[in-house]
Amino acid sequence: MTSNETQASNTIAIYDDRMTAIVDPDATLQKLADGAVHTEGSVYLPKDESVVYSDAHDNRLLRWSAKDGVTVLRHPSDYQNGNCLDLDNRLVSCSGGLRAIIRQEPNGEWIVLVDRYQGKRLNSPNDLVVKRDGSIWFTDPPYGITEPNQGYGGEQEQPGSYVYRFDPATGVINAIVTDMLRPNGLTFSPDECTLYVSDSSAFNLPDGYHYIRAYDVVSDRQVANGRVFAVIDPGQPDGLCVDEPGHVFATAQDGVQIYTSEGTLLGKILVPEVCANITFGGKTGNRLFIAAGHALYAIDLKTKGVK
Ligand code: MG
Repeated sequence: MTSNETQASNTIAIYDDRMTAIVDPDATLQKLADGAVHTEGSVYLPKDESVVYSDAHDNRLLRWSAKDGVTVLRHPSDYQNGNCLDLDNRLVSCSGGLRAIIRQEPNGEWIVLVDRYQGKRLNSPNDLVVKRDGSIWFTDPPYGITEPNQGYGGEQEQPGSYVYRFDPATGVINAIVTDMLRPNGLTFSPDECTLYVSDSSAFNLPDGYHYIRAYDVVSDRQVANGRVFAVIDPGQPDGLCVDEPGHVFATAQDGVQIYTSEGTLLGKILVPEVCANITFGGKTGNRLFIAAGHALYAIDLKTKGVK
């Protein structure tokens, strides 16, 4: 612990008094489900109050609800990783195995939306977010190629690891962010004027990064003013999300770290396993679901996620 940190409870570490407006210092972390190899890609489904999440290293897609516990939705899942809902509440997901963005249709079938850029195969989409205009923004690091438990291997065809914008209405795909090593989790500020992207390259590159970059969203096709928003320690940042006031929630080795939109660390939700992804949910949108290690956790907050 650093000198400017106070430990409010076993779960909440406070670095700045503003943290107490986000979470009760005595809030408790609940473990909802266990037994996965490596959980990822948590997304909340309001229609049945469930959480769909990936067991990304065991090639499975899982579902948890208070009523049913854990059920297996897909096995194999073609190394599904990040999951999200589109504007029609369909699941859209990153497939590290198919090296594609996929979507579940109303009949339950999964279809490939996009798997190429400029005629070459994508690396292995990792995480995604749907913007209010319906476009899908996703990261494309090569982990499904380089890591045997995240995809089916193969040759990398893209010259780099980019953040793409794909418009399912037109089929147009554009590379938006091209200056990162291993873009991973991503999210927009509540006004969608800022794009935040994790770079997890320190995971397996000696000179890699473990920071979050922020970009000004200039247009549908362009971002500008890329800068380091926050350096994440310990570990690397993975999944990201924001709450209504614009705080940035970042997964890290020690839990979920919470930053102001200026990049000041307010505090941490300490989790006993390495955190990979987070999503807001619950009846009133103030429950944070955390995919970490072998498990799915939840904690109630005083703040809500962005719709
Ligand atoms: Mg990820």
